[in-house]
Amino acid sequence: MPIPGSGLAKGLAVTLRTMTKRSHTAQYPDVQPELPPRSRGVIGLFEENCTVCMLCARECPDWCIYIDSHKETVPASTPGGRERSRNVLDRFAIDFSLCMYCGICIEVCPFDALFWSPEFEYAETDIHELTHERDKLREWMWTVPAPPALDPAAEEPKEIAAARKAVEKAEAAAAAAAAAAAAEAAAQAAETEEPTDPTPEGDA
Ligand code: SF4
Ligand code: SF4
Repeated sequence: MPIPGSGLAKGLAVTLRTMTKRSHTAQYPDVQPELPPRSRGVIGLFEENCTVCMLCARECPDWCIYIDSHKETVPASTPGGRERSRNVLDRFAIDFSLCMYCGICIEVCPFDALFWSPEFEYAETDIHELTHERDKLREWMWTVPAPPALDPAAEEPKEIAAARKAVEKAEAAAAAAAAAAAAEAAAQAAETEEPTDPTPEGDA
């Protein structure tokens, strides 16, 4: 049988213990929380990478990704080549009133078109405003933190190596063209400065 008043003593002990500890209350919104960079705040869309493969929309457990697209014919790049068709994105929207922030869409995207941003201040008074269309999803991309630096001993990623080689090739071609233009200009200048043959005395 419990001693009378023991419950009250226990409660007072908890109160006394808690009173001596520092408060964890965050004074939001006066003080912004320090969130980890990879917090799941909102999803950003890098639409240049999106091929409209529809994987994210198909895998989303809440069916809250809306994608519309149409097909476009791309002419052959070489004479006699075949025309190609490609998907053009017309609409990409995420309804954040349904989203449960599982991250499946980001995981399954094979083309790195979706990213987590730690931004979370997008509450709305009208629930319809929580459907973010592609322009808004694109804007969130500016708040996505940069990826962590590569290990110095890591192999250069093939995308970066390809981009670097393309830049080096373009720079070499531009330098060669500039050198050729300079040589041609110098040759023309030498031609115009060349003295004319003096007229023979007997012809005067
Ligand atoms: S985070 Fe999950 S619920 Fe939200 S859009 Fe992506 S797949 Fe759907
Ligand atoms: S999975 Fe990626 S590439 Fe495919 S539709 Fe979704 S965002 Fe676009």
